[in-house]
Amino acid sequence: MSTGPEKAFDYLVPDELIGEILPGRRVYVPLGRSNRRVMAYCVAVERKEYGQRKLKHVLAALDQQTLVSSHMLNMTQWMADYYLASWGQVLEAVIPAAVRGNAGTREVTLLSVPPQVAMQLATLKLTDKQQKVLTTLAAASKPMTPGDLADKCRVTQAPISTLRKKKLITSEVRRVSHAHFDDLDIERESAKSLSEDQAAALQTILAQVHAPQPKPILLHGVTGSGKTEVYIQAIQNVIDQGKQAIVLVPEISLTPQTKQRFASRFDRIAVLHSHMSDVERHWQWKRIASGIVNVVVGARSAVFAPTPHLGMIILDEEHDTSFKQDSVPRYHAREVAAKRAELEKVPLILGTATPSLETFYRAKQGQYELISMPRRIGNRPLPAVRTVDMRYDKTTGYRGAISRQLYQSIQRTLQQDGQIILLLNRRGHSTHIQCPACGHIVKCPHCELPLTHHITDGSTVCHYCDYRSTAPRVCPDAKCGYSGIRFSGIGTQKLEQEVKAKFSSYPIIRMDSDTMKKPGSHEAALEKFRNQEVRILVGTQMIAKGLDFPNVTLVGVINADTALHFPDVRAGERTFQLITQVAGRTGRGDLGGEVLVQTLSPDHPAIEAATRHDYALFAERELPFRRDFQMTPFAHMVRIIARGPAQASVELFMQQVGEEIQRFTAEKGGEISQQGPAPAPIEKLRGNYRYHLLLHSFDRHLMRAAVLHCREKITVPEDVLWIADVDPIDMM
Ligand code: ADP
Ligand code: ZN
Repeated sequence: MSTGPEKAFDYLVPDELIGEILPGRRVYVPLGRSNRRVMAYCVAVERKEYGQRKLKHVLAALDQQTLVSSHMLNMTQWMADYYLASWGQVLEAVIPAAVRGNAGTREVTLLSVPPQVAMQLATLKLTDKQQKVLTTLAAASKPMTPGDLADKCRVTQAPISTLRKKKLITSEVRRVSHAHFDDLDIERESAKSLSEDQAAALQTILAQVHAPQPKPILLHGVTGSGKTEVYIQAIQNVIDQGKQAIVLVPEISLTPQTKQRFASRFDRIAVLHSHMSDVERHWQWKRIASGIVNVVVGARSAVFAPTPHLGMIILDEEHDTSFKQDSVPRYHAREVAAKRAELEKVPLILGTATPSLETFYRAKQGQYELISMPRRIGNRPLPAVRTVDMRYDKTTGYRGAISRQLYQSIQRTLQQDGQIILLLNRRGHSTHIQCPACGHIVKCPHCELPLTHHITDGSTVCHYCDYRSTAPRVCPDAKCGYSGIRFSGIGTQKLEQEVKAKFSSYPIIRMDSDTMKKPGSHEAALEKFRNQEVRILVGTQMIAKGLDFPNVTLVGVINADTALHFPDVRAGERTFQLITQVAGRTGRGDLGGEVLVQTLSPDHPAIEAATRHDYALFAERELPFRRDFQMTPFAHMVRIIARGPAQASVELFMQQVGEEIQRFTAEKGGEISQQGPAPAPIEKLRGNYRYHLLLHSFDRHLMRAAVLHCREKITVPEDVLWIADVDPIDMM
């Protein structure tokens, strides 16, 4: 069931539906005492004794085609179990709504004349109109719809209906697709001859392709080491065996450049992205299920692509947080891919320059095969990274976003015809609006978080709930009303203004979620940068990944500390990843590259390791810390979040959860450590108070049982909603 019960129920299959009801198809069944008619998924059909049990009958079959294979059924069952979701909810996530709703298809009634009627046409007593209809249809080369037939004979539906009633015309209902989308038409490119590192990587991968139970592979290759070419040649091998490959990339990397890299090498690829219409989504799904698609390229949910003969899964930028879904079921595509690969006995390749510590640790433990590509293609050096200590600029009273060193580097780069990427992971203009007279901070009324000033429309915006109001001219505090309210803190809009003012003769473009709202704007902006119409690219993390522009010789990180002080175990890891990834956008051509990182914490281990391009150093320092504090990847984590409009009731509920888990753990004799319950870092969101509780344990099953126990045992107040996030990524 898609809603309601978590478990599977037994029903009897009526004789007339035998053969129509199969695992992976939907049915209608009666549910509960009132025998409510509900839609459900058939997960197994068995022939067995059911003894004294009173079983109800299935009411009807809904699908003529199987929606999920048996492997996928197993996988969804695993997901439901692992992520503490109901099996039905997982199935709804796996099978797109467009497929369930048959988007782009419609039912048509097709009419024909039975042969025995056609033979005695002349002998029938009919009106002129009926005669005309019957002769026309009998003479037609294929069945016709009632509409077409009426048009052709210039009659109303009346004579057709009469003939159907007299059984002189028979009808059948069929579902037809009216969609068609063209394949990408792209110039072919041939295989590159591999570097030594690439060739070795391919060897290791192919050994796993032919293994009876392949091991997942971590392909740890520095930025520009040529991971994509390795993927492509591995996929070629899979296709040669008549199988299909799935390539998962972060949504933001689904650029025309990515599509082109695959489309220029393979026939029949399907690109799945979030802007697709339902009709196209359904059409692509059917194409993939039919087996004619060789390569599926897509974001997170493409891990569910219904390839009939899967040969390999590739997950690029494996560390990327967009692989985790933040609504039910809260799955991580990497874990789901690992499960699917295990079930279908195919290799999984996890590629990245900055492995998540979870994946790296598994590789170190021998659970995953580890491949290293420590050199860039053509032995190009990694760019030199320098930090700029912004603490010193403070003493001179300098308030801008661009330090003297960065200013000089930008100027030099522009003079040498290079291009520049400036990263600032904060959108808006001023990130802080405060009255210097009374100290009042302008906050969102629903979230109590500081509002950001957006200069383009003079509004103040809450970046959490999108609440908007006009920017105040005077202090909004009724008792104060001071007229010199101050806008401070730097977002991408202010940075853009500063860059425009300082380098006025050079074209600049800003990329953040405010400027990139329209579909296609992302590609258009990158195209302008690629053809060097634009010399300076300013943006948030959306510009940090994957871009391959050889003319970029300078990268500036405006504030490396934005994520460093978040209350999140992965704060250091995120910072390391972001700096390493954005630094990797330069030095990709023959012109070399340079990176400047502005920070208030130049000695922070994550920043220091990133400036040296030293993943091993980062991991060496971070792992012992995680072990000492019993955190991921050593222990498992579940985050419980509760919210509601009444603070006291949320807090009380969470205390109950904490206590219940403690009691349960003691009873079972296991160990689950708790952090909290405490107000979540985002304490209030859209008018709801939020509390969270972090559970850590080496025993995943115990934690799971504890959460299920709470679900059963604790009565949830009406005004409280709670969820459990398994392997959480978002700690806010
Ligand atoms: P990564 O994904 O590891 O950052 P890419 O796959 O983007 O690296 O490769 C970096 C650049 O090197 C790309 O422009 C790619 O076309 C080029 N490249 C990759 N492999 C080879 C090769 N064997 N010979 C020549 N150029 C290559
Ligand atoms: Zn808000």
